[in-house]
Amino acid sequence: MAAEERPLAIPRGSGGPAPLEALVREMLTLLGEDPEREGLRQTPERVDASLRWLTRGYGLSVENVIGDALYAEPHDNLVCVRDIEIYSLCEHHLLPFFGKAHVAYLPNGRLVGLSKIPRVIEVFARRLQLQERLTDQVADALMRVLEPRGVGVVIEAYHLCMMMRGVEKQNSKTVTSALRGALLADGKTRDEFLRLVHGRGAVE
Ligand SMILES: [Zn+2]
Repeated sequence: MAAEERPLAIPRGSGGPAPLEALVREMLTLLGEDPEREGLRQTPERVDASLRWLTRGYGLSVENVIGDALYAEPHDNLVCVRDIEIYSLCEHHLLPFFGKAHVAYLPNGRLVGLSKIPRVIEVFARRLQLQERLTDQVADALMRVLEPRGVGVVIEAYHLCMMMRGVEKQNSKTVTSALRGALLADGKTRDEFLRLVHGRGAVE
């Protein structure tokens, strides 16, 4: 277990099945299944493990993830990381939503290691989420930790709760954005960010 992880809220049982496993077994029964048939026998254990993995963000913090990967540097142009894969769970249905995040910040005397930005997203994506809140949380965390002149976050995602249920809107993609500081206030910077997100390159 990495030092940055805190104990999870659901304790593992000592001996006997973990509480979450017992609940999954009961759920299978309530769904009309036989949890003892061969294909399902290990399912409670697997669901327990995968739900813990998919919600491990509760045990992570942005400060720990970034650590000391902040570098003093007088670069003052927009830094944009595009097409970061995201996987999260919608809190209304416990079904996945997935897609891409695009993140930019306007530095104010320091840079962050680029590989840290996807890890900051993981801190919040690996929880029960709403796409809107995830977008805001990533923007606010980067504002807090990097103290940049501005941050922009755009997330485009497909929600299985929309695609598999009810009206089965297979092709609708949800797009959310959060702009902070100069990316909100300065039209030129905001336009540059949106051009980078849409893949048409930086402003000349
Ligand atoms: Zn949902």
